[in-house]
Amino acid sequence: MNSKNTDNINKKESFNSPAELICINCPAGCRLTAVQCGDDWDVTGNRCARGSQYAKQELTDPRRVLTALMRVAGGKRPISVKTDRGVPKSLLMECAREIYRTHPEAPVHAGDILIENVCGTGCRVIATRDSE
Ligand code: SF4
Repeated sequence: MNSKNTDNINKKESFNSPAELICINCPAGCRLTAVQCGDDWDVTGNRCARGSQYAKQELTDPRRVLTALMRVAGGKRPISVKTDRGVPKSLLMECAREIYRTHPEAPVHAGDILIENVCGTGCRVIATRDSE
């Protein structure tokens, strides 16, 4: 083995076993393999850059869009709401509790921002249905 090949192997040295994931960004559902290389991840199996970004995000700071029902003061029934982007997975229950405790006054319209910064995550909670 020449020195060039040895350098390449050292750069790719991993300290953990590979992580297997399925990319959920599109119906192709690529099977991804991610190997940690220092502070970065070497991702294979992705057909586009979104797969690599997804794997790195999922392995370092997993997030989920939260959907829930929210009671409306004076409304006939709860309305569906969702966060405008993913909240940290570790805060999902805390965010759900804040949504449960929040009761905006009717009328509420789809697109209204009902919580500006849920649990300090910087994410908004938005109505996805109208309530009269
Ligand atoms: S890697 Fe790209 S092509 Fe594959 S599932 Fe993800 S978004 Fe789709």
